[in-house]
Amino acid sequence: MHENRVVLKFGGTSVGSSENMGKAIDKVLKAREHYDEVAVVLSAISGVTNLLLYAGRSALYKRPKDTLLQIKEKHYEACDIIPDTKLKMQTIIEIDERLAELEKILTGVFYVGEVTPRSLDYIVSFGERLSTLIVTRALKARGYKAEQIDAAEIVVTDSHFMNATVDFEATEKRAEEKIVPLLGQGVIPIITGFIGASKNGQRTTLGRGGSDYSAAIFGDVLDANEVWIMTDVDGVMSVDPNIVPEAYLIPELTYMEAMELAYFGAKVIHPKTIEAAMRKNIPILIKNTFSTSAGTRVTLKREEDEFCVKSISILKDASIVEIRGYGIGMSARVLKEIFQNMEEGQINVMMVTQGSSQANVSFVVPTDDVKNVKRILLREYYERFNIIDNIAVVSIVGEGMSRKAGMAARFFNAIADKHINNDMISQGSSEVSINVAIREADMKVAVQAIHDEFLSVKACQ
Ligand code: ASP
Ligand code: MG
Repeated sequence: MHENRVVLKFGGTSVGSSENMGKAIDKVLKAREHYDEVAVVLSAISGVTNLLLYAGRSALYKRPKDTLLQIKEKHYEACDIIPDTKLKMQTIIEIDERLAELEKILTGVFYVGEVTPRSLDYIVSFGERLSTLIVTRALKARGYKAEQIDAAEIVVTDSHFMNATVDFEATEKRAEEKIVPLLGQGVIPIITGFIGASKNGQRTTLGRGGSDYSAAIFGDVLDANEVWIMTDVDGVMSVDPNIVPEAYLIPELTYMEAMELAYFGAKVIHPKTIEAAMRKNIPILIKNTFSTSAGTRVTLKREEDEFCVKSISILKDASIVEIRGYGIGMSARVLKEIFQNMEEGQINVMMVTQGSSQANVSFVVPTDDVKNVKRILLREYYERFNIIDNIAVVSIVGEGMSRKAGMAARFFNAIADKHINNDMISQGSSEVSINVAIREADMKVAVQAIHDEFLSVKACQ
């Protein structure tokens, strides 16, 4: 582990305008007061990745002039953060050049009549390449040493376009060659999040929201002391404050808890981020670019975490699929077939339970996937199924919960006391969560009751 090195990652909102970029830059400079070496990873300006994907897809049948104009305007505005007029003009010219290149690619899509995942990755890479250009120039104009780094030159991936997997060893080698020397000279590398390149140099991306993952990858390959995910909320809350007004910031989470929360709906951090951070046990801090809140620190389990409930997560817009068995019930083979079909149909199955008689199986899916689920079930002749819409999955998350007796009982009693029926229950496979599926109409009351039961006293802090 390096003595004094930190990776700071800023999300789309944190670079979303010239004003916000200014706040992000202040945080970078503040971090330099405490750390000898600071590396920065950036997302695209908020909304730009979506616009780029839209441009790429719509280029099949039209010239996406308006979309390109929107992208251009967002970047022009952001350039106001560059205090030196000459440098600002130069940056605007470069933005124009890059967007002219993008326009050519989009024209190519139009004429070829095809847009592949590979070309979409090339197209979306413009977002991070432009945000990092502007922030690098802003730092330079203020007299700091900064260098824009295109992660395609560092992060080596497989060729799974739009959701590539990283080769950490190869990436580490390149980071040592190209980034470590810069850090040693006091340069602040401004690195594109979200993107990498395959071994033969084709641009790839790490999946939507993947710049968190990039931050953890750079934390790992640079042996950083910490990775800070700078976002637009104070950290992870005990529950959504829009539902429970007494919600509070959780100061400490374990990797497993953070992963479970990410999986069950808390949008603060990309789940793969935790996997990468765990490789070398690098702590992750989730902090707010726009406040001085201490944030949430994510680390390996500590003794104090043993019997804690930390947080409640809520996943809305879900549906339950119930399939009833035939004759002797559902054999393991039938179950396997069902879930294999779901996987092939790219259905996100979130919770599964099987009746003890083996005569039925139920699972929870996003309501958006229900149409496809029905199609698959009918194709496979599973006519005896039932779908319940307007479901919310509520989970309590806390490490060590599985070993403390009575947690599940308290959880279900809290709900039952409010006369709320639960449609399905399960314990997370990692044993750090207990989940219940209830009607969305009951969600608010249930969540308040669960918060009162487990989190009204700030235990485990
Ligand atoms: N810009 C990318 C996206 O919107 C990556 C990220 O923001 O994390 O998905
Ligand atoms: Mg994000």
